[in-house]
This record gives sequence, structure tokens and C-alpha cells, in this order.
Amino acid sequence: MTDTSRRTFLAGAALTAGAAVTAGTASRAAAQSAGATATTPPDPATYPKPPYPTDMQPWPGLASKMNPRPDHGETSYKGSGRLAGKRALITGGDSGIGRAAAIAYAREGADVAINYLPQEEPDAREVIALIEAEGRKAVAIPGDLRTEEFCRSLVEQAATQLGGLDILVNNAALQQTRPSIAEISSELFDDTMKTNVYAPFWLSKAALERMGKGAVIVNTSSEQAGNPSAEIMHYAMTRAAVLNFTKGLAKELAPRGIRVNAVAPGPFWTPLQVAGGATVEKLREFGADSPMGRAGQPAEIAGLYVAAADPLLSYSTGQIFGSTGGNGQPA
Ligand code: NAD
Ligand code: MG
Repeated sequence: MTDTSRRTFLAGAALTAGAAVTAGTASRAAAQSAGATATTPPDPATYPKPPYPTDMQPWPGLASKMNPRPDHGETSYKGSGRLAGKRALITGGDSGIGRAAAIAYAREGADVAINYLPQEEPDAREVIALIEAEGRKAVAIPGDLRTEEFCRSLVEQAATQLGGLDILVNNAALQQTRPSIAEISSELFDDTMKTNVYAPFWLSKAALERMGKGAVIVNTSSEQAGNPSAEIMHYAMTRAAVLNFTKGLAKELAPRGIRVNAVAPGPFWTPLQVAGGATVEKLREFGADSPMGRAGQPAEIAGLYVAAADPLLSYSTGQIFGSTGGNGQPA
């Protein structure tokens, strides 16, 4: 497949989702049939490789405006009831890795609430349509995670509208490059900590007031946790904190029958990277230094979010599930 045809393929997959948003019920049925007939996963060898186009966007960016559009599994993820009847809240569920998890959770039989920023409403609408196309309940709760007040209200709204909460996926994050520590302002440092460390802490605390035996918290760390890049050191610190938080909280909650796991991605093709998370130079060669020689697509990591929450993996808690294209694991 040529680069152009690969892009057309991904754009076509994404358009299926986009169409479902604008045309309502009829196209929801179309999206449903896309999910139901999603029997042939894309050949990973056909995914785009570096050099990538460097079409940057203002933060927080939209998946629907990326070139090439990421593959979140819209037309390929096929479920088998692994999360049947579960009720999940996914932060950053509008795009990227969170969207891939939301699609997978719905196709595994879960009702799903997603949180995102108000500017991301167009992306969120696509995800809501895809969840509803599976016959699952979809709840959209926009809002900024940088305050405890909103985090508490988000958990309350999600639990009320879903009728309870079994899975919390802490996935939202802020990643903005700076060439030197001298240029990391206290304001950026604070925003990064609030979004990436405080919010998972506040959300977990609020969710645990409502969670019972069998519930799961799935955090998002990164290969950056153990191997930080200089230009995102402030962000990398937060992924290390989340990794550590995962292991500590898992110990506290094991006796309650509640598990806590984390997924640690390597380089993935998402809005985070084109909206200030990577320099132009890094984006062009994104993932080139991994043994796979390319960035991952969100569809390729969704299964780890399912595994991290799957009741069958009942002995797995405090675990870090990695997907780095061959570059090893965080500590
Ligand atoms: P993404 O841009 O698609 O998702 C990040 C989301 O964070 C946004 O969609 C946005 O909704 C949310 N967000 C940011 N600030 C927020 C705020 N103040 N309030 C509410 N929501 C806010 O990018 P992604 O790459 O899919 O990121 C998902 C997770 O994956 C993050 O935790 C990131 O650290 C992690 N990760 C990504 C990569 C990668 O290469 N893409 C690598 C390692 C880890
Ligand atoms: Mg987004």
C-alpha cells in the first residue's frame, strides 16, 4: 500500500465515524454494521511510517483534523463480551488512546462516560455516536480536570447517569515541549501536575467512594516514566508518578477486591503529539527509533485497556502493561 492509499484508508475509517455524528440514527446503524462486520483488523504493515506530515494544531488538538487520521479501531475492533454490563468513565475519551479504549469498552459490552475539554466537542460527538452504535449507553461530560471540585462532580455525574461505576480510566494528560528547564514556567509545571497527577488522584479518591468489589482503576503511564526525554521532563515526571501511584494504591485496595493497573504506551499517533507534545523534528520521525520503526496507532493499544480491566485477569493488580513497539518496559 502506498502512503497515499494508507492515508485514504485511515481517512475512510474515520469518515465512517464522522458521518454517524451528523446523520443521526441512520448512520448510527451504518457505524453499528461497521463494528459488527469488523472482522479483519488492518495489517499493521500498512500503517503510516516516518517521515510523517508535520501538520501542527493548537492545543488540545482534534483527531478529526489530523493528517493522517489516527486509527482508533473504529472499523476494526471486535469485542467478545469481556466487559459485559460494566460501567466505565474514561477521561480524555474523545481522541487518541482514550477514544480507542472507549470504542473497545463499548464493543466489549460496557456503558461508557467520556470526559474531555469543551473545545474537543467535535471529537467527542464521534465517540458518543460510536458507543451508541453498539447499543451501549454513552455519556458525554465535558469539563476541565484541573480542579478537585470538577473531578468530584465528574465522578458523581458519571455514576449517576451510568447507574454506578465499575471502571475508572485515568487517561487525560497535558504534554507540552520546552527546550530547557529555564522555559518551563511555574504555570505550565502546575497545569501539567494538576492534569496528570492531581486529577487521577482526585478522580480515584472520588470513584472509590462508589466502587465495590470487582471494580478497577486503569491509569495511563508512559515509557517516559523510566526513560524521560529532556524536552518533556516535566511531563515525564508525571508519568513516573502515575506508575508509582498505581503500585501503591493497588496494595491498599487488594483486600477490598479492587484492582489498579496502568498502561504504558510508547510513541502513539494522537492529537497530544501534534498539539504541542512533540517538536516538528520529533514528530516527523515519530517512533522511528523503536524496533517497529514507526509510531503506534491507538487501535493497537486498546486491547491492553480491556485486559487491565478484564475480570478474568483477577490476579493482576499493580501491573504496568506496556506497548512500546519493542523498546522495553518502564521500571
Ligand atoms: P490525546 O490528546 O488524544 O488525549 C489526551 C486528552 O487529555 C485530550 O483528548 C483531552 O481531552 C484531555 N485533557 C488534557 N487536558 C485536560 C484538562 N485540563 N481537562 C480535561 N481533559 C484534559 O492524546 P493521547 O496520546 O491519546 O493521550 C492519552 C494518554 O496517553 C495520556 O495520559 C498520555 O500521557 C499517554 N501517552 C501518550 C503517548 C503518545 O505517544 N501519544 C505516549 C505515552 C503516554
Ligand atoms: Mg482530544
